[in-house]
Amino acid sequence: MLRENFDEVEDKISQACIRSGRERSEVTLIAVSKTKPVDMLREIYDCGQRDFGENKPQEMRDKTALLPSDIRWHMIGHLQRNKVKYVVDKACLIHSVDSVRLARAISDEAVKKQCQVPILIEVNVAGEESKFGVSVENTYSLINEISAYPNIHIEGLMTIAPFVEEPEDNRPVFRKLRQLGVDIKAKNINNVNMCIYSMGMTNDYEVAIEEGATMVRVGTGIFGARNYT
Ligand SMILES: *Cc1c(COP(=O)(O)O)cnc(C)c1O
Repeated sequence: MLRENFDEVEDKISQACIRSGRERSEVTLIAVSKTKPVDMLREIYDCGQRDFGENKPQEMRDKTALLPSDIRWHMIGHLQRNKVKYVVDKACLIHSVDSVRLARAISDEAVKKQCQVPILIEVNVAGEESKFGVSVENTYSLINEISAYPNIHIEGLMTIAPFVEEPEDNRPVFRKLRQLGVDIKAKNINNVNMCIYSMGMTNDYEVAIEEGATMVRVGTGIFGARNYT
């Protein structure tokens, strides 16, 4: 049953790549498995999927212990500094860094564990009150400051676009994130890569791919609706 969802998402990603003249290999699908039981993750793993996204540090840590070690775990949720220890050396990429203090905590933990941690900067492109993420205006200065910290590496940008009925409405948001990245890349900051754009969720990942997403984070479209009760 999940395989059908997975095949459909894969198909839509391929189509969006064709529409925008991109290679399928330029876009990584992250299966967002938060709240879902490991049996369901295993089903998607058996479809060949290896990138999974979680938003709670302890849940991610617990799941890593129960599933194959070749899974790449992405931390996509807001991260508190006291939870950093659960994620560093477990996550292949932390998508949600939006403050100097959090970056400092990740860097300190990475130095302690003697590992390297790739991160993305989460940008609140639409300036929504309710969302985490640094403002577009402050992104460059944040990156500039963080780039000097040891054992962390800025690989690109992430955004959570507004909830909209019509996916097309988020196109300007994706375009803006991409342009911001291009502008920052042009400044050639040491230790800053800007090659990953993590944008697009179940509702709007096709538009995000058309606007240059290199990672899309799809939960509901693969695993079905989440039940938080
Ligand atoms: C839950 C979540 C997703 C997946 O959302 P869907 O709409 O279920 O695809 C993507 N990104 C982040 C940061 C999330 O927390």
